[in-house]
Amino acid sequence: MNSVTVRVPAKVNLQLAVGPLRDDGYHDLVNVFHAVSIFDEVTAVAETGMSVRVEGESADQVPEDGDNLAIQAAVALARHAGRSYGVSLAIRKAIPVAGGMAGGSADAAAALVACNELWGLGLPLEDLMEIASDLGSDVPFALLGGTAVGTGRGERLAPLEVGGTFHWVFALADGGLSTAKVYGECDRIRQEGGEPVGHPRAAEPLLAALRVGDARALGAELTNDLQPAALSLRGSLARTLQAGRAHGALGAIVSGSGPTCAFLAESEAHAETLAAALKTENVARDVLTAHGPVPGPTVVQGPPGR
Ligand code: ATP
Repeated sequence: MNSVTVRVPAKVNLQLAVGPLRDDGYHDLVNVFHAVSIFDEVTAVAETGMSVRVEGESADQVPEDGDNLAIQAAVALARHAGRSYGVSLAIRKAIPVAGGMAGGSADAAAALVACNELWGLGLPLEDLMEIASDLGSDVPFALLGGTAVGTGRGERLAPLEVGGTFHWVFALADGGLSTAKVYGECDRIRQEGGEPVGHPRAAEPLLAALRVGDARALGAELTNDLQPAALSLRGSLARTLQAGRAHGALGAIVSGSGPTCAFLAESEAHAETLAAALKTENVARDVLTAHGPVPGPTVVQGPPGR
């Protein structure tokens, strides 16, 4: 049987700067994306129709129909190729669902890579990137991996050289947060505050910390403009972030639109101690350790003979 399995990482935003609301309903963003070693796996098997099955972490919250982003990716790729290909996708989830770690976008990127391989299309990354940006703002980065600055809606990407490996702890929350609701709450808070919202810019000290691999400097520079909105919608996250800081995290931040909280540790050993402390404090549904940056979608098992 012809099948391809692709492993794809989650992301955390090291900087998420949100500009004013645009007329088209989007915000201009500066988004420093960083891929971390929490992986979903997408297996594509040649079939006549299109279908998807999901198992693993919070699988019951992921649609198994045309709303699934991985199926949408496969459909878009087949359309791009101008042929009526079929595929059966099996997604093994480890990335928290609606957790601010772009799990759906990751699965879409993995499906593009898997189907490109399965159907023998041989499309270059450039073409896949074009399809990815139509699927969602976070999909192009999911296809790229590593660390990159995104501008526009997040889809115009510039990869960054990173001078080391960073060690992370992620505190998973019960239930997700809707990205659209978090942006809405961000707009509401800003309107209430009445402060003018400036044009977003990448923070030079953060980019410098990444270039030299300085975890302490990076920890001090982590920022997320969506954090006040996520905390307003999910007050309990303040306690989670505080617990991480109290146990020596170099930086503590809500990941993207939340509710997952990300903590930067000094070392792999510190990440393990910090994770154990957060588990003991009972401030999260689950606690994971990871490192970054890691590469984007990787074929871990391909069709026989290729
Ligand atoms: P982001 O960080 O990009 O805002 P997120 O990590 O907060 O996203 P996702 O895990 O991508 O959120 O899920 C958002 C919604 O998308 C979920 O409510 C889920 O039902 C839907 N969804 C569609 N396809 C998938 C998929 N393959 N995996 C996870 N969620 C999916």
